[in-house]
Amino acid sequence: MKTLLVVHIRILAQRQCLNNRVTEDDRYLLAAIGLAQQARDNGNHPFGALLVDPDGNVVVESENTTVTLRDCTGHAETNVMRVASERFDYEFLQGCTLYTSTEPCAMCAGAIFWGNVRRVVFALSERDLRRIAGHNQENATLAIPCREIFARGNHEVEVSGPHLQEQARGVHEGFWD
Ligand SMILES: [Zn+2]
Repeated sequence: MKTLLVVHIRILAQRQCLNNRVTEDDRYLLAAIGLAQQARDNGNHPFGALLVDPDGNVVVESENTTVTLRDCTGHAETNVMRVASERFDYEFLQGCTLYTSTEPCAMCAGAIFWGNVRRVVFALSERDLRRIAGHNQENATLAIPCREIFARGNHEVEVSGPHLQEQARGVHEGFWD
């Protein structure tokens, strides 16, 4: 009986831990979606990303800058990784998590992989983005989920998503029409 109780408490504790993690992830994803809105307000495409260190500090954040900087590589996640690899060493980045308003494209997944960030959490899926924006020439698309790209790597990258679909879609509403 005592053992059963201990096991039960342990399961509850694990569940609580998992719930906290989800809440924590959602908080950073909402911030990434906020950056996407900011990008849109600033005349760029509605994407945002941020990097969080093992202690939960946001250490880099970026909006998409493809239009205003006339830079085809100015996706939010690639911008984050460019700054992150300048500022931090490879070992530190291994413990960081990248949060993004939309699933990383092939280029950004590459930047995340080569920057050695080992965990990615995204809101809107690449497939959903294609549904929303695929018809628009401004949104060139490589139809490949980031999990498929990371699966080819020689180190593991944990991926979580999609999450917060409604908020993630909201920031694209009317933009690509
Ligand atoms: Zn990208």
